[in-house]
Amino acid sequence: MNDCIFCRILAGEIPSKKLYEDEQCLAFYDIQPLAPQHFLVIPKAHIASAAELGEEQAALVGHIFAVIAKLTKELGFADGFRVVTNCGEDAGQTVKHLHFHVLGGKTLGSFN
Ligand code: C5P
Repeated sequence: MNDCIFCRILAGEIPSKKLYEDEQCLAFYDIQPLAPQHFLVIPKAHIASAAELGEEQAALVGHIFAVIAKLTKELGFADGFRVVTNCGEDAGQTVKHLHFHVLGGKTLGSFN
């Protein structure tokens, strides 16, 4: 059995508040939002983190960023948002399935 939480969300075994889905990725609201707008975009393929990415995933990553641009426009915060991917435990990655946090809906402070 796959014990990856995000693979289980993709399989419908764990509920999520979906925003968008296509054959390559899923976007859903983060259950512990850190900003007024906070959603995640994940690839359907299980990729552990950004450290696993190679040239073969270039189109997938480009697609995910196109989805992010589309969703931030639709949700009305395309004029100011941040995309973050935590990579590895030292960077605070808790779910070992590549995901892009998209944060916005407020003035974001400096990054540290
Ligand atoms: O980057 P990191 O691995 O820490 O982020 C994982 C994110 O996944 C957290 O922000 C957490 O709230 C979110 N999460 C979620 N739904 C779950 C489990 C985790 O939105 N069922």
